[in-house]
Amino acid sequence: MRIIAKATDAAVWSAAMRREGRSIGFVPTMGALHQGHLTLVARAKAECDAVCVSIFVNPLQFNNPDDLRHYPRQLEQDRGLLTGAGCDMLFVPEEASIFQEHSPRLFDLGGQDNILEGPSRPGHFQGVVNVVERLFHYIRPDAAFFGEKDRQQLAVIQHVAHTLHWPERIVPCPTERAPDGLALSSRNLRLSPQERAVAPVLYQCLQSVAGSAFREPVTSAKEHGLRLLRAAPSIRLEYLEISDPLSLEPLVDWGDRTEAVALVAAWLGPVRLIDNVTLHKR
Ligand code: AMP
Repeated sequence: MRIIAKATDAAVWSAAMRREGRSIGFVPTMGALHQGHLTLVARAKAECDAVCVSIFVNPLQFNNPDDLRHYPRQLEQDRGLLTGAGCDMLFVPEEASIFQEHSPRLFDLGGQDNILEGPSRPGHFQGVVNVVERLFHYIRPDAAFFGEKDRQQLAVIQHVAHTLHWPERIVPCPTERAPDGLALSSRNLRLSPQERAVAPVLYQCLQSVAGSAFREPVTSAKEHGLRLLRAAPSIRLEYLEISDPLSLEPLVDWGDRTEAVALVAAWLGPVRLIDNVTLHKR
């Protein structure tokens, strides 16, 4: 596996792949890799000839300096995991190199910054899209793989890619979970053993919403989930919403939909966790 730190060298690697007629699959990450990231890499390998993974803890997308300071960093371990996963190129850009001669742009996010994660994380999605645009600019992938775990991030990127006619194919990948249902996340590393024991309640809450979705009114389906969260006193809920699967706009009724999505965000000690599940009308 090649390791590249300079954006211009990454562009040279990408051009060489294209000259050889190899398609490029790209998985952008912030490192502290786990099985969730590795399933994205496996999918990229299955669909493309060469796979690039980036590790970049993007300061633009952290609205909370404490979260940025404590974000887990474990490059050596990540390197071993990616070698084992058959990654061809690990791009670890230096900040100066990725944002060279570049001032952050303001993207049209289709209103996503006003709902769900948006209000509690001002500037977060602009930061995400700015760095993804820069990474795409240098890597020029055929396809880029994103986890449904970060459902709103995926929706934002799909929106921008669609409206700006980005040529990259955006591929959504299902959420990987621990056996007790907790969505895998680098931030789980910061949970104490007691907090880790409580954390699966987020998934249980979403499952209980799913159990009554489309059979009961939206507010009552939500209430089933809220009841479980209230019973876990260490959980500080930010939101539990049932949303349209495309716009992610929170719903007041099911309308004639056959699909929706339940999304939750909550604090557990110092860690903010998010999760979501798709709801199906059966
Ligand atoms: P991150 O390193 O947290 O920025 O995540 C990098 C990519 O991995 C994003 O597209 C995430 O949505 C995805 N990802 C993170 N956790 C999971 C998971 N548990 N299952 C699937 N994909 C994930």
